[in-house]
Amino acid sequence: MFPSFSPTPLLMIDTLTIPTQRTTASRLPEVDFDQLEFGKTFADHMLVVDYQNGEWQEPQIVPYGDMTVSPANSALHYGQAIFEGMKAYKNQDGEIFIFRPQDNLSRLNASAERMCMPAVPEEIFMQGLSQLIRLDAEWVPNFTGSALYIRPFMFATDGMLGVRPSDSYRFMIITCPVGLYYNKPLRVRFEEKYVRSAEGGAGFAKNAGNYGAAMYPTKLAQEEGYNQLIWTDASEHKYVEESGTMNAMFVIDGRLITPALSTSILDGITRRSVLQLAHDWGMPVEERKVSALEILAAHAAGTLQEAFGVGTAATIAPISVIGYQGEDFTLPTAPADAFSHRVTAALAAIRSGEATDTHGWMVRVQS
Ligand SMILES: *Cc1c(COP(=O)(O)O)cnc(C)c1O
Repeated sequence: MFPSFSPTPLLMIDTLTIPTQRTTASRLPEVDFDQLEFGKTFADHMLVVDYQNGEWQEPQIVPYGDMTVSPANSALHYGQAIFEGMKAYKNQDGEIFIFRPQDNLSRLNASAERMCMPAVPEEIFMQGLSQLIRLDAEWVPNFTGSALYIRPFMFATDGMLGVRPSDSYRFMIITCPVGLYYNKPLRVRFEEKYVRSAEGGAGFAKNAGNYGAAMYPTKLAQEEGYNQLIWTDASEHKYVEESGTMNAMFVIDGRLITPALSTSILDGITRRSVLQLAHDWGMPVEERKVSALEILAAHAAGTLQEAFGVGTAATIAPISVIGYQGEDFTLPTAPADAFSHRVTAALAAIRSGEATDTHGWMVRVQS
């Protein structure tokens, strides 16, 4: 949904010096890197930049911590808030690389446009990212499967209750070290009543409201013993949209099938990467509508080989059970050479530097 971007520079060079206030008491010594729970431990610093009077002000790096906002800010009342999610990795030589950050910037700005928010300039985003991560370099773990999760976000800051786009905004980046994500195969079920987003809505944008509205139907499914939902389209409840907050993929008879992008589907960077690798390997790829009935028919015929969700947090999350109208369908266990295993390993090898990064996905942070 967002425009393709120019080729990425492989090394981010400083072109801007961001004023930095360093913490006087690093929390690093207290962190147990073996017990990281996703999104709970934050690195020492954060990037903050305000948009006022039609202009982005000077960015700053400050110690991570609470901040003050107007109780009338329209992010709190009307959901003018967007975010991104990406990861930085450390290789065996201690060099730090970020996976496809330009794609996150493009998507952030596509989300911003949909929510009437100002675009974040490339220089602020990329320089902010690289200088913040360099400062917190010791927070980037380097054991297998670990990464520094990066959360850029923007929200309205006007203290004014009128329902209209705010005049002022804050863009920030916070980061969290994360450990190996244990991909316990998921139990999912088709959702035929509630919708995540409709055609013409804002499902393609990473705006806060999409996630709040998904919590209730997800909670209902969890009470029934599922981990998450497979959302279906808003008009007919027939076609697969996404799986939880991941893009959904299926391998049927050796073909990789995933819903085509639309205004109701998030254009995942993991999705793009997995499709690219499938193309590279000569695997037939189909981006099109895929119905619940097609999945069940393939299961019945024994041709549904794999189903999985793809996204930054988990990379590839295999699905073991699919529920539909009260019945559970169990997928066969994927063999060691299954596509989902090969693509997980290939992405891990590119990120750790063990495999050649032929697509120029890894952008190095200057040390
Ligand atoms: C972020 C997100 C994804 C995955 O996108 P990635 O760029 O691969 O992390 C998929 N679906 C939804 C709804 C998301 O918010």
